[in-house]
Amino acid sequence: MTMPRLIPEQNEVLEMLKRTGAFREGHFVYPSGQHTPHYFQMPLAFRYYDTARVLAVALSRKLRLEKDVSSALPKVSIISPSPGGIPVAFAVREALNAEQIYWAEREDGKRMFRQYVQTGDVHPCVIVDDISRTGVALQETVELVQQLGARVIGAAVIVRFRGAPSRLEVAGGDSVPVLSLVDFDAKWYDTGAACTECKQGVPEEHVRF
Ligand SMILES: [Zn+2]
Repeated sequence: MTMPRLIPEQNEVLEMLKRTGAFREGHFVYPSGQHTPHYFQMPLAFRYYDTARVLAVALSRKLRLEKDVSSALPKVSIISPSPGGIPVAFAVREALNAEQIYWAEREDGKRMFRQYVQTGDVHPCVIVDDISRTGVALQETVELVQQLGARVIGAAVIVRFRGAPSRLEVAGGDSVPVLSLVDFDAKWYDTGAACTECKQGVPEEHVRF
């Protein structure tokens, strides 16, 4: 068995995602009517414990290189913007040996934490997610964390679409980098009329979200 490199290269991560079905290429149509030649379904990669561990260890190594993060450990909270990021948050927590983990959920369309989450110790926070397509989820989570009176000291995702911000604005006019294993050039077409795959007659797959 070959040991994985500590931080795999972007193409190795994409290969891993492809192998597990989390990254698919073809011709996909979203419920919104948008067309795209690629599709990420990240939980498919986290089905495999070994893959999950390699990805999380890689992310945690990038986070440890951030002085604000490494100097605060282990009194750090790993935060997921949604339940979808919980497997990543647990695996990163394990690799960093951070003390806390929690996650936001949507209630009536609004992102929020469970009630009373601020009644324990509130540690500085690192926000992690499987994928950042627009950056909205990460930035909304920054606001939530800061409402608890906590500091955001880092952020990391497995895949970041290049259109999503590479830094998050935090309190005090400061910002933190969004670390990622893959920076991906996402292609979107608002309608089939603009879609290259439609013109080439590539069979469509309809995806749920
Ligand atoms: Zn199309």
